[in-house]
Amino acid sequence: MSDALRPPARVVVDLGAIADNVRSLRARNPGSALMTVVKADAYGHGLVPVARAARGAGADWLGVAQPLEALALRSAGVGGPLMCWLHTPGTDFAALLAADVTLGVSAQWGLELIEAAAAAGGQVARVHLKVDTGLGRNGAFAPSDDPARPDQLGADAAGLIEAAARAQDRGHVRVTGLFSHFAEADEPSSPSVAAQQEVFERATSAATRAGLGPLVRHLANSAATLLDPSAAYDLVRPGLATYGLSPAPQLGTSADFGLRPAMQVAADLAGIKAVPAGQGVSYGLTYLTTVATRLGVVPMGYGDGVPRHASGAGPVTLGGRRFTVAGRVCMDQFVVDLGDAAAQAGDEVVLLGDPARGEPSAQDWADACGTISYEIVTRLSGRLPRTYIEASDGSALGSGALGGGALDGAAPDGGAQRPGGGEAGEPR
Ligand SMILES: *Cc1c(COP(=O)(O)O)cnc(C)c1O
Repeated sequence: MSDALRPPARVVVDLGAIADNVRSLRARNPGSALMTVVKADAYGHGLVPVARAARGAGADWLGVAQPLEALALRSAGVGGPLMCWLHTPGTDFAALLAADVTLGVSAQWGLELIEAAAAAGGQVARVHLKVDTGLGRNGAFAPSDDPARPDQLGADAAGLIEAAARAQDRGHVRVTGLFSHFAEADEPSSPSVAAQQEVFERATSAATRAGLGPLVRHLANSAATLLDPSAAYDLVRPGLATYGLSPAPQLGTSADFGLRPAMQVAADLAGIKAVPAGQGVSYGLTYLTTVATRLGVVPMGYGDGVPRHASGAGPVTLGGRRFTVAGRVCMDQFVVDLGDAAAQAGDEVVLLGDPARGEPSAQDWADACGTISYEIVTRLSGRLPRTYIEASDGSALGSGALGGGALDGAAPDGGAQRPGGGEAGEPR
């Protein structure tokens, strides 16, 4: 981009880092397929460019939460196995089936709506049953309801499995997977991790007994993908780690896990001014200069997704030196107290960069704001233009070896949906 068009504040996403992270995550669990989770605009990195880079690096599956995210990928021509798991009774299941999206199903009402949509369209819907193994969130509840029989499968999950088996017999639904999600995979010694895995295995056995299968079984988020090989099953499902961020910062940094942060955030100083000692800075005048100094105005604020909680705390670098946000973050601007640093309008301030060069990381911002790195990158708003550094090998579509049986489109008669959006050479 020419300097004349250089936006004052910007996000640069290195798709080569995404590709490297995808390959690294895949290599950690060579017996399992890989789903790259690209929900929430690929955690703020850009849905379609990240999806393409992940596919290019061998991601067998893409995963999203919301139906519109799945449809946006198909509209952009992204083919191959794609799963979407967060639905409401208002979801347009017909559109998702027409777009060849595999549906995560958490409840019998969802199954009924999917079956009806598939029947109306003369299709066979591919579904993965989602069981709640103890997170207490989305999914059919699978832990035992009966304290006297802790090894029993919960009635909710048992009911969904049985309803799915009956629906499959009627011909418009094919159950090709079963999955769940961890609550504390970032704390591997927590008893909940093993307990959830046990419930998961109980649910998969029940599904097999009900005549379902072969099933793609998947449970591992980023933390489990990095820390718990026993949870890899047929498919791992990392999101955060794809973007080069550590899901368990108390156990290791990005670099410790062999990951490269993909996102840089920077802005050009919109102005510099000399002020005397005792000058208050930004709304509320919560920061007071202690000596005569120079203030730099950074043209980014909470309207761009810089958390207001970063007031007085967020780290930046300028010319290799670290500074902290002075006073409150405003909608469009924040201020740094540059002291004696040589700087002028137009100089680049780095908010997120390469920790190896001393630039702040998303984890540094998370620590400063009392949140997690997930939120720091995901909340950066659409107001900030994204530019992309292409992966050098972006053309290597489907280069990874496929995990055994983990592509549900490859099931014997699993291909009854129209292969909408499929690209030549991609796994499906
Ligand atoms: C968001 C999400 C993931 C990815 O989680 P990370 O911690 O980012 O790896 C995986 N599976 C489901 C169901 C999710 O909602």
